[in-house]
Amino acid sequence: MNHSFENKIAVVTGASSGIGLAIAQELTALGATVIITGRDADKLTSAISTLGPDASKFQVDVSNLTELDAFYEHIHTRFGRIDILIANAGMGEVEPLGQITPEKFDRQFATNVRGITFTVQKALPLMGQGSSVVITGSTSSINPGAGLSVYGATKAALRAMVRSWILDIKGAGIRINILSPGPVDTQSLRDFLPGKAEDLLQSLSERSPIGRIGRTEEIAKAVAFLASDDAGYINGAEIFADGGASQV
Ligand code: NAD
Repeated sequence: MNHSFENKIAVVTGASSGIGLAIAQELTALGATVIITGRDADKLTSAISTLGPDASKFQVDVSNLTELDAFYEHIHTRFGRIDILIANAGMGEVEPLGQITPEKFDRQFATNVRGITFTVQKALPLMGQGSSVVITGSTSSINPGAGLSVYGATKAALRAMVRSWILDIKGAGIRINILSPGPVDTQSLRDFLPGKAEDLLQSLSERSPIGRIGRTEEIAKAVAFLASDDAGYINGAEIFADGGASQV
């Protein structure tokens, strides 16, 4: 497979680190003009230094609709369109039943559900025939495990919404899919269990049918495929890149 994204305008949200940054690097390597977003100016600056000269950055919190409007106004003025939208910004917190707080509940839904909803909806006027949206989900959408009920619910909500959205925009020529990773070695995964990161990574590896956790580049390649014309008949799907973890 050899996708080319020459002359494509690609937006990757939450790309100052982890999976989003790897996706931005992959799309850049395949020729796309990439715009990355994130909340932290310093992290964005260091991320952009790993991308090509055509890449640019914009500071935006996806849970803030005013900031999202400013971002899309910038894209409209500077680029005129979006060919590929990777709605990746997201976060999760461990909170077992009995310890779920309204603050953490709202924060996860505000970022993962509300943030993704308006990231996609506000991009639509800039997207046309042959364009593609890929949302970063999670195996937690079907198999959240202990303590991740709220996080899993946010990712399951995305699947439900995408199945409806593809009907809402029928005929627009815009595909929308979800790429759901299993555990991937990023700082945020390591931060999930403070002080016990190595134990967590080892137990996740042992539980995985493939015997290890994922690498950000592997997720990036799967996302690039879904965003490419090679996936032209794949629409409304949730594809798992998880070494089989969600299937057992
Ligand atoms: P990460 O923390 O490195 O990346 C998350 C990115 O989203 C960061 O750039 C962060 O700044 C950004 N972000 C978070 N909230 C935001 C907001 N309100 N506005 C704008 N940006 C925001 O973590 P990651 O592991 O690379 O996670 C990326 C995505 O992958 C998330 O959607 C996460 O749920 C999903 N995911 C991760 C794993 C894993 O094991 N790492 C597994 C399954 C799914």
